[in-house]
Formats: sequence, C-alpha cells, structure tokens
Amino acid sequence: MRDRFPDFRLGSVLATSFTATLTERCGNPVERIPTPQRLVDWLAVNGLVVQFCTAAQLERARELRESVHAAATAAAVHDALPAQAVRVINDCSVQGRAAAVLTPEGNRHWRLGSASRVADALSVIAADAIAIIAGERDGRLALCASPTCRAAFFDTSRSRTRKWCDMNTCGNREKKARLHARAAKQQRPRPGE
Ligand SMILES: [Zn+2]
Repeated sequence: MRDRFPDFRLGSVLATSFTATLTERCGNPVERIPTPQRLVDWLAVNGLVVQFCTAAQLERARELRESVHAAATAAAVHDALPAQAVRVINDCSVQGRAAAVLTPEGNRHWRLGSASRVADALSVIAADAIAIIAGERDGRLALCASPTCRAAFFDTSRSRTRKWCDMNTCGNREKKARLHARAAKQQRPRPGE
C-alpha cells in the first residue's frame, strides 16, 4: 500500500520539510500527502504522533503548508509578507496545544493535547515557520535554483551559498543535466549507432 504514494522529502528543518510535501510547484507538482493517512505518516516521521486525521484537517494542513510556502518565499526575496498567509500561520500557531518535554536521554519530545491532535501538530509546524521567517534561527531563507521547483529552503551551510532545496534531488538533477549537455556537445555520431 505504502509505495502507491510518493516518498517524503525530509530535511532537518521541520517547516520546510513540511512545505516539501508538495514538490515541483513550478513544474508538474507532486503531492506527497495525498490522503489523511499520509499526513498521519508524515507527522509520525517528524515526531508528531496523531491517532487519526480527517479530510478537513488535511485541508487545513495544506492551507498552512501553502501559507508557510508563500510567507517563506516572500521572506527569501525580501518582499512584504502576504497578509493572508501570515494570518493562517498565526491562527494555526495559536490554536494548538503542544508542549515540548525533555526526555531522560536529553531529547526534545512533543506532547500533543488530547482533543484535536492534528491542530496541535500544525501549531508546532507553524511555530517553527515563525522562528525561521522571523530570523530567529541561524541560517538564511533562499529559493531553490531549479526552475520547476523554486521551493523555499533554509540554508544553514557555513557559506550560506546553497542553491538547491535538496542536493539529492534538485541539485543532482541539475548536475546530471549539465553533464548531459556537455556530453551531447562533445559526442560525435559513431558508425553503427
Ligand atoms: Zn528544489
């Protein structure tokens, strides 16, 4: 069942991992949380365990996702933040009841409230987005150089010169395309081919 759905693109930053559940926004978009259960799966992988998710909650999650994408994109290019996106992010942040707890091993664990846990999980994601967009964390918001992607990502490299949202996907594809173009230029037709 599981492999009927596209894999998740996971990074080290929660908010931009979340926006990466929709990829290739400027090409042929790939929806990586096509069903409520896939959102449940994604949240579990990211330490936000919920029991179930309704269609309406998935809808809300996608609304938050696109709001984070819009606000992060604006922040990356130093535009004014879109008011509607800011409102959705703030609403999601305010409406959740999640608490960070420290495990005996010294790890952070999110304890979600008992009632509407998806809303609690979304509040954690919204708070993470706020921290990044507000410049509270060490790093730089940037847009992926791939013309079919243009995802907003959080660059924590020392030089702050990362070009792609993900080296293994967009970065690799770009590299392959360049090699391909170079090979095509150099290649001469050989007899029998
Ligand atoms: Zn990309």
